[in-house]
Amino acid sequence: MKSHAKVVVIGGGVVGASVLYHLTKAGWKDVLLIERAELTSGSTWHAAGGMHTVNGDPNVAKLQQYTIELYKEIEAVSGQSCGVHITGGLMLAGTRERLDWLKMAKARGRYLGMDLEIISVDEAEKLFPLLEKKHFTGALYDPIEGHVDPYGVTHAYAKSAQIGGAEIVRHTRVTDLRPRPDGSWDVITDHGNVHAEHVVNAAGLWAREVGRMVGIELPILAMEHQYLLTGDMPELIGKPEQLHAIDFEGEIYIRQERGGMLMGTYERAGVPWSEVTTPWDFGQDLLPNDLERIAPSLEVGFEHFPALEGAGIRKVVNGPFTFAPDGNPLIGPIKGLKNFWVACGVMAGFSQGGGVGLALSRWMVDGDPGADVWGMDVARYGDWTSLAYTNAKVRENYSRRFRIRFPNEELPAARPLRTTPIYERLAAEHAVFGDYCGLEHALWFAPTEGEAVDHVSFRRSNAHPHVARECTTVRDHVGLLEISSYGKFEVKGPAAAEWLSRVMANRIPSVGRIALSPMLNDRGKLIGDFTLCRIAADHFFLIGTYAAETYYLRWFERHLPPTGVTVRPCAMQYVGLSVAGPKSRALLQSLVRDDLTTGSFPFLSFRRMEVGMIPAYVGRVSFTGELGYEMWVTTEYQRALYDLLVRAGLEHGLRSFGGRALNAMRIEKNFGTGAREYRPIYGPFEAGLGRFVDLKKGDFIGRAAAAEEKDSGGALRLVGFKVDAADADAIGDEPIWHEGKVVGWVTSGAFGHRVGASLALGYVPHSVAAAEGGFEIEIIGERHRATRLAALPYDSSGVLMRG
Ligand SMILES: Cc1cc2nc3c(=O)[nH]c(=O)nc-3n(C[C@H](O)[C@H](O)[C@H](O)COP(=O)(O)OP(=O)(O)OC[C@H]3O[C@@H](n4cnc5c(N)ncnc54)[C@H](O)[C@@H]3O)c2cc1C
Repeated sequence: MKSHAKVVVIGGGVVGASVLYHLTKAGWKDVLLIERAELTSGSTWHAAGGMHTVNGDPNVAKLQQYTIELYKEIEAVSGQSCGVHITGGLMLAGTRERLDWLKMAKARGRYLGMDLEIISVDEAEKLFPLLEKKHFTGALYDPIEGHVDPYGVTHAYAKSAQIGGAEIVRHTRVTDLRPRPDGSWDVITDHGNVHAEHVVNAAGLWAREVGRMVGIELPILAMEHQYLLTGDMPELIGKPEQLHAIDFEGEIYIRQERGGMLMGTYERAGVPWSEVTTPWDFGQDLLPNDLERIAPSLEVGFEHFPALEGAGIRKVVNGPFTFAPDGNPLIGPIKGLKNFWVACGVMAGFSQGGGVGLALSRWMVDGDPGADVWGMDVARYGDWTSLAYTNAKVRENYSRRFRIRFPNEELPAARPLRTTPIYERLAAEHAVFGDYCGLEHALWFAPTEGEAVDHVSFRRSNAHPHVARECTTVRDHVGLLEISSYGKFEVKGPAAAEWLSRVMANRIPSVGRIALSPMLNDRGKLIGDFTLCRIAADHFFLIGTYAAETYYLRWFERHLPPTGVTVRPCAMQYVGLSVAGPKSRALLQSLVRDDLTTGSFPFLSFRRMEVGMIPAYVGRVSFTGELGYEMWVTTEYQRALYDLLVRAGLEHGLRSFGGRALNAMRIEKNFGTGAREYRPIYGPFEAGLGRFVDLKKGDFIGRAAAAEEKDSGGALRLVGFKVDAADADAIGDEPIWHEGKVVGWVTSGAFGHRVGASLALGYVPHSVAAAEGGFEIEIIGERHRATRLAALPYDSSGVLMRG
């Protein structure tokens, strides 16, 4: 084994082999993969090898498409067959809701360039004669599903990488990782040490153990997974190979394997494997079968596909593989560690392995993954993902693998975990809570305890009239909203302003003022949108998307100078409340000595005040688009502040409102969010944030690309629409049609209660963004006329907000 390499990849499963190949393809030749046993000695060897393109996250779906298309390439480079069988695939629906879900998946596929088709049960039976029609209502057909040979794929990646210059060392275990002061690593193995500039943890079933070598606890857990192979079936003799099928209501997947069928299930009573540590002596082993556990699914399988029952079970495979709490991979650099990368938690290695390798290699070589990989970024998790939290969430995710997640559905596992001091107060107001990064936050308020439950649906739900009342209260009186679930940072030091001016695209505000600012990456794309509040010349309070806190810190860390600036994440050490609506000023004025008139505390002011007895930072800003104030306090004051506002609010008609109402109101103002509109695939001018980019202030990260985008106009435009919707509003990811062609996609949608219309925000090509008419938005399989809104639907002049 060599003693130095630019990169050491730990783990020779399908993921490590793909990363290795993609690094060589990106031009890094001095790369070494270390495998403890033979290649494929983790989850990979016993996988069922199924692959498909459909995924709930369009960005992950794109990487799945890429993976499947890659097999031809690695076969050609390596001469090693991947055993690719493109049979086509059916996703079978047994209920109306499932068919709706499939229609939405098909619609998403339209702008991803996928050739998906909704077919009738009769057509499904023609394609897959084993099914019993009476159990199904329709299906989604995908021509490029199928299966591969796990051994062949892994070796094809490995050989292709070796041809590209990589080295692979087998039967060598990495036992420790020691950082050097320059950010490089000593990789300690049982057969000597290697000095590496970068280390990639692609250790699959042992990724947690490798993480622990560098002091991190990765949120992944292995679950046992079983599939069975039937004996040969006369029904298959002389027929073309059967399709790959997923039967959602039966919670099973099924495909042909030689002369019989392979059937697997994600059983509801899933069982984790090696909950705390993975034994190093686990090799190409299988776990004992537990047919009793999967018996309910088998019974359904035999009913839905009767020919299987007579075929007999030839073999059962029970093997472990790893999941993150949301079932998506964990990739990227780790905050606080230099040159340490992860590519693990990949639960669908044969659909996702190629995309994971591509994104990670670009990130390592170019400093940027080159796509929107937020759905897979390891930084989407933070301190709350304890071992027990991960355990509860992974079990839940596994058991729901084939179940529908409705847009208004909040999942119950591991809750409540994180709560703010007013949690019980909000519960007493009949709040329906959502879970955001493990934190409970109010979504909406029901009139009675018995009504405080979401009836899950793709259409307008039972919450609709209550959210409407919350919005009109804010419009006509004053509403109270908890705003703790934002990311907050304190930035301090003599070089703070200069540094912020370099990482933020807007001009830095003067003391006592607020500025809204995009944060751009080197390619000039949006990686954040912040509220910058200046407390003193050398002291700032930043507010951004909470889910991205670790992501932001990782970015800040990369760009911080050695001295002169400190960045402190406040997490829940600062929590907040906001009042919004025409009576918010009178309410707050009754509690503070400061003069709140616009003359002395105008829009975008920020000041320390005493609200009653409570020291607070108060900002004159509101995401609702109304006159409003945000108050930030240290945690121990929040309950007193809430009580004070509620008491004083009585005479102003104050009521609480939640996240659903806020979402509807911000869409009425075309305000985007980091989670939806402001993503690293869009530029600031495309996103309508051009007025917050100060190209004259001097250099900042992404400036050159932003200037170019301004000149060229960019490729896309964020546009607001009024939709002639019936009983379902857009929620995001619906296709936007123009003159009969799909031209774009919705990023957010909701019913705008203040304007009485169904609204959507979405991206379309710049060239059609100004078209007068001809737009349609497809909601649950139906196209609805959409009117492009030339002006903001609510308070287009901003007089309410600024007044
Ligand atoms: C029963 C079953 C069916 C499945 N069916 C499918 C399917 O149909 N389609 C699909 O896409 N996916 C399927 N999967 C999931 C698939 O197997 C995984 O997504 C994939 O194998 C993950 O690959 P990996 O490279 O991340 O991890 P692993 O395969 O676990 O590879 C990790 C490698 O790292 C090595 N390693 C670990 N630690 C060290 C160390 N310290 N030093 C050196 N080497 C080390 C291990 O020996 C191992 O070879 C299935 C899994 C199971 C169990």
